Amino acid sequence: MELLERRIRQDGTVLPGNILKVDSFLNHQLDTALLDALGAELARRYAGAGVTKVLTVEASGIAVACFAARHLGVPALFAKKAKSHNLNGAVLVARVHSYTYGRDYEITVAARFLGPDDRVLIVDDFLANGQAAQGLLAICRQAGAAVAGFGICIEKGFQPGGGALRAAGVRVESLAIIDRMDENGIVFRKA
Ligand code: 5GP
Repeated sequence: MELLERRIRQDGTVLPGNILKVDSFLNHQLDTALLDALGAELARRYAGAGVTKVLTVEASGIAVACFAARHLGVPALFAKKAKSHNLNGAVLVARVHSYTYGRDYEITVAARFLGPDDRVLIVDDFLANGQAAQGLLAICRQAGAAVAGFGICIEKGFQPGGGALRAAGVRVESLAIIDRMDENGIVFRKA
């Protein structure tokens, strides 16, 4: 998506360790006009896919998930990372390994918000090694919910997450795919 690629080139910073910093518009300070456009594009790609719910994980996926859900006319639901005393009753839990932070954490969704009648669009800001994605798939599996596919803002195509999902037959729509990045620049995959 041209609009997003242009913004990444303009305002993104490549940090050591293959981390792309986009916190001036995507996952700390939020450019809501841009996020609205990203949500609209994800909704356009999944129009007619029968999506009943958009699922993400807190915190950085929530913004784009809300805009996508608004354009699809369905609720947005986010998995919680902190153990919450407010999650009364049955819960769906998955363990996720974070390479970015070098530790494991659990993600949790109240079982009453996801069930066999749901068809889920899983949304996130980044797809890298795919650990968060696998955790969200596991949550859907536990709920007996169908997965329409993934809607990702930025896929780091040089890491294995997206490839593994597609090889498993899962639909992955990424609005920008980075094939290479370093201090000299960012190379996007051609659409
Ligand atoms: P994965 O589980 O696919 O390896 O990583 C997914 C999560 O890690 C994303 O939700 C995102 O929060 C974080 N992440 C991975 N790579 C990057 C990156 O290059 N930049 C930023 N800002 N976050 C990243």
